[in-house]
Amino acid sequence: MVETYSRNANRNMRRPVVKEEIVDFMRTRQAQNTGYLKDLEDFARQENIPIIPHETVAYFRLLMQTLQPKHILEIGTAIGYSALLMAENSPQSRISTIERNPEMLGLARENFAKFDSRKQISLLEGEAMELLPGLPDDHFDFVFMDSAKSKYIVFLPEVLKKVKVGGLIVIDDIFQGGDVAKDMSEIHRGQRAIYRGLQKLFDATLDNPDLTSSLISMSDGLLLLRKNVDQVDLEMIEI
Ligand code: SAM
Repeated sequence: MVETYSRNANRNMRRPVVKEEIVDFMRTRQAQNTGYLKDLEDFARQENIPIIPHETVAYFRLLMQTLQPKHILEIGTAIGYSALLMAENSPQSRISTIERNPEMLGLARENFAKFDSRKQISLLEGEAMELLPGLPDDHFDFVFMDSAKSKYIVFLPEVLKKVKVGGLIVIDDIFQGGDVAKDMSEIHRGQRAIYRGLQKLFDATLDNPDLTSSLISMSDGLLLLRKNVDQVDLEMIEI
């Protein structure tokens, strides 16, 4: 029994931003997981652990098989499901994945020991902001940010140093069930830190000529960023 997540956790994962029947269609008609990935998916759903939904799984399969990134960085491992999915679909990739929650770290360690058969994955244990500066600069071709949503904008300057020019950053859960399109006054007080952090993220990226960005209404929203220049200027915003 996992203790970190309650049945009421991850509220926004149940507030789809596109029509519910389309979400169902995307989740049921796209090739399903088999083997250990299916077992991990079932375990996470049963324990309310927030893993990427099935439409994102299908998209990541395609991205990984097409891009075959040499070096991947993930922030937010949880039980290792998305890291193992990336490893499975891009056999040449080396994946560094960051997690701070001790319970998740225990499960991820077990899962990598059992299922990371090509030894592609390194689990980095601790707070992302402390670990990121120690990673090599201009190294990663692909980054998946799937951690505390209010902190994306705080991590971004450091993440951008670590990504190669031409590299792709994928940021998950950026619509917050549609809250981001509302006025701050309509947002529940407890959600305002996330709201503010995400608005800063949009201000810093969507119109920034040093990045090419695209919002995708998949899952609870993905923001894709391509790093276009060596030194990305985020100075237009105050973090
Ligand atoms: N990517 C995983 C998947 O789809 O299989 C799910 C990751 S889950 C949504 C987010 C994880 O990020 C949680 O396990 C949480 O403990 C971790 N996390 C959040 N903020 C973090 C931080 N600042 N540093 C390290 N880990 C963090």
